[in-house]
Amino acid sequence: MISRVARGCHAIELSERQETILRIVKGEGPITGEQIAEKLSLTRATLRPDLAILTMSGFLDARPRVGYFYAGKSSNQLLGDYIRKLTVKEHKSIPVVCQEDTTVYDAMCTMFLEDVGTLFVVREGGLLIGVVSRKDFLKSLMGSRELAQTPIGVIMTRMPNIVTCKLDDTLLEAAALLIRYQVDALPVVKESSSEKGVEVVGRITKTTVTKAFVELGEGTPV
Ligand code: ADP
Repeated sequence: MISRVARGCHAIELSERQETILRIVKGEGPITGEQIAEKLSLTRATLRPDLAILTMSGFLDARPRVGYFYAGKSSNQLLGDYIRKLTVKEHKSIPVVCQEDTTVYDAMCTMFLEDVGTLFVVREGGLLIGVVSRKDFLKSLMGSRELAQTPIGVIMTRMPNIVTCKLDDTLLEAAALLIRYQVDALPVVKESSSEKGVEVVGRITKTTVTKAFVELGEGTPV
């Protein structure tokens, strides 16, 4: 059986021979390379690349004069390690923004045209001041607001009540915020170099996380 497991930032596919070596070491380790080779009726030299791969990828550990022993984590643990290494920086998408004085009507058009569910409201320099979602638009439709006259600033959720994430956060941390605060999107921000506040540099949404999940399941290194 060929198994595909996540290790570090890459999916590793073990060959049948490597699987066999793992089984032998699991059952009989610590065991020397010589003894493994004997069991497989191969030479120690033939096995060297396989043992190197298994050791470097963390399945096996080797100690001088002791031999190889099983250090491998379960596939679930490896998958967990892999997931914890995914970063916001690598997975963020482009933020779709509007200005505070954009009318609700125009902002709705932007949402349709850009095919997003959340817009970030910014000042010059990309400084984050608000977030507006589909539900905010529904609310303003249910009220008797004049959509073509009302500025988005009136209906948006305003700083400092915005949940954000940073480039160096893990995707897992961002996903946990999406769930905890029950929102669909997080602005990815960094401290503004010129002004007080934070600058929007990306977007993490439930779709971002779903994409990473699908790539993981399909075995494509993300
Ligand atoms: P939807 O309206 O499509 O269900 P959300 O659940 O994300 O989308 O939005 C619900 C409410 O939360 C809206 O009032 C919106 O302004 C606000 N909101 C959206 N994203 C954030 C965020 N990152 N931080 C704080 N509030 C947010």
